[in-house]
Amino acid sequence: MNQIDTLPPLREVIATHGLVARKALGQNFLLDLNLTARIARVAGDLSDMDVLEVGPGPGGLTRGLLAEGARRVLAIEKDARCLPALAEIAAAYPGRLQVIEGDALAVDPLAHLTPPIAVCANLPYNVGTELLVRWLTPAEWPPFWSTLTLMFQKEVAERIVAQPGSKAYGRLALLAQWRTDARIALTLPPGAFSPPPKVHSAVVHLKALPEPRFPAQAKILERVVATAFNQRRKMLRASLKGLGPDIEDRLNSVGIPPTERAEQVSLEAFCALARTFEKDRR
Ligand code: SAM
Repeated sequence: MNQIDTLPPLREVIATHGLVARKALGQNFLLDLNLTARIARVAGDLSDMDVLEVGPGPGGLTRGLLAEGARRVLAIEKDARCLPALAEIAAAYPGRLQVIEGDALAVDPLAHLTPPIAVCANLPYNVGTELLVRWLTPAEWPPFWSTLTLMFQKEVAERIVAQPGSKAYGRLALLAQWRTDARIALTLPPGAFSPPPKVHSAVVHLKALPEPRFPAQAKILERVVATAFNQRRKMLRASLKGLGPDIEDRLNSVGIPPTERAEQVSLEAFCALARTFEKDRR
């Protein structure tokens, strides 16, 4: 195994600082620095980028990002117990690591970052999904970030990259694929973490497209997709009834059979359907 830096091994860091993993904070730590460097490489060339890392914990991924040459890393961590370990990393990489203690859902990182910005995180899954949806639905596009490299439960990762016709296909796939190129870059067994989680994990890489893949107004598309998948087993003429009495005409006008179910409908067709509601607004 290669040494990626001169800092102590992660097991030692965790023991020295008494970082017993806390379930309430979703703490499953990566201990293999070669693996964290590999995850950092998924994010691409970071030498000209600031990186926002959410939930650095004892700093395994942080060290991977810095060793792989990230220009600067801003790390937001909720657990104050991790701060001394992160301070040691900051001292080993002068001027390149800034740590903020806080809840990533509440802290605005933008004041501390200079574009281009990559986001990289191994977060508890519930926080990760909430942040992903937030990052995918900003007030304006393009967003503040160029890429997202995020660890999820494998099942959630599969929902992000799912194609029509599959059980995993739904709101998350459509939100992600409308304005990003999304792929699963790596899958990891539970044993890659300490303590091991119950399920496999996967690293998803999302690259922001300069423009949406198909034209549509974000708010309308989000509403149509959420309504359609709220009752995914129903035919669209029933599940979308709440969007107006003429929903069958709208579906027909864009070539979607009203008897189709949401999980069969492509992103392009959902965008076309969303555009029929834009005309009402004029
Ligand atoms: N990145 C480290 C690694 O890969 O070993 C730790 C990963 S662990 C799955 C998740 C980390 O996120 C923990 O350090 C936890 O304290 C932190 N965390 C949990 N909720 C958070 C939140 N809302 N904001 C910031 N950090 C959070």
